[in-house]
Amino acid sequence: MLPYRGGQVDEVVGCAGELAQTAPAWKQYVRPEILAMEGYVPGEQPRDWNVIKLNTNENPYPPSPAVAEAVEAVLRRGLQRYPDPLATEFREKAGELLGFPPDWILCGNGSDDILTIITRTFVASGGVIRFAYPGYLLYATLAEIQGAEIERVFFRPDWSLGADFGRPSARLRLVFLANPNSPSGTVIPPAEIATWACQLRCPIIVDEAYADFADSNCLDLVRQFDNVLVVRSLSKSYALAGLRFGFVVAQPHLINQMRKVKDSYNCDALAIAGATAAISDRRWFDETRAKILATRAILTQRMRHLGFDVPPSQANFTWNVHPELPARIVYERLKQRGILVRYMNFPGWGDGLRISVGTDEQIKQCVDSIEQIIREGV
Ligand SMILES: *Cc1c(COP(=O)(O)O)cnc(C)c1O
Repeated sequence: MLPYRGGQVDEVVGCAGELAQTAPAWKQYVRPEILAMEGYVPGEQPRDWNVIKLNTNENPYPPSPAVAEAVEAVLRRGLQRYPDPLATEFREKAGELLGFPPDWILCGNGSDDILTIITRTFVASGGVIRFAYPGYLLYATLAEIQGAEIERVFFRPDWSLGADFGRPSARLRLVFLANPNSPSGTVIPPAEIATWACQLRCPIIVDEAYADFADSNCLDLVRQFDNVLVVRSLSKSYALAGLRFGFVVAQPHLINQMRKVKDSYNCDALAIAGATAAISDRRWFDETRAKILATRAILTQRMRHLGFDVPPSQANFTWNVHPELPARIVYERLKQRGILVRYMNFPGWGDGLRISVGTDEQIKQCVDSIEQIIREGV
């Protein structure tokens, strides 16, 4: 048996037995688009559950106890069979809550899976994908994997978007809009999105990962326009980031096309049961949402008081930019104190700190620490 060489590959020998000369052989195996791209870098996930984790917009509260009960019931029944490929149990319950028939809903292994399915369904290599900037970083990664061209439309300084965002163009195949947006937490009014949907001749994806924390959403537009698709996640508002469940609401002819693209069993039996139990517990949802909105108001007010510019957030995080303090240093000092926030730098726009709404106690510790850091001087 050959000894294990610790993944060392610099001496790979081709079939002809020659050492690879210029480019290593493996580079020829990989599609050029993949070689050229960086890959999505998710927020840090420390193993230590004691850090105050305010960097990836998770819910600070545990999910509804009904989730564990439902998951345990599936475990008792057994995992030897494949799950329902369409997660019908979930679609029926979600459809009832949102006012759609189940065939308007397609489920995914987190809403990131849904965004992948959407990209693969609508965009061929060479097509153009438009999205707003600064926004969710995954859209660029999905475009790169697909070999699509990226068209960034910059937000205005007040986080509104110009008419350019809804302008049709020949090769445009898909438009992504996170609404509420990340990192700003701000919302584009549904009426404005409706005017874009009217003009565009391609799907516009309204990524509503944070809409449960907002005053408005675009579900009505899905009924009115065959090119509006709304994507939802259970990761944030239902405290189930670890379970992986998301879905898209769209008109059935598009759902049927996306069905062909998804993996047959993209949602596992535990996730389907847990997600269905989660959306069925309305009391947990209402109480948790109310707590997060109250804490968001405190966070916004205190950060503004410390001199940060904080756009009005309708999500479970705020975007914080200080006119003088370097964001990266504040991030690092917080990390030394066991508090993790997200430092984000958007070339051509600037940097800042995105702070997830934790519990009142976590937010108090975070903002108190920022106050101290300012007093110590950076
Ligand atoms: C968190 C997030 C998602 C992904 O959510 P998952 O369901 O966990 O995959 C999608 N879009 C935006 C804008 C997000 O912030």
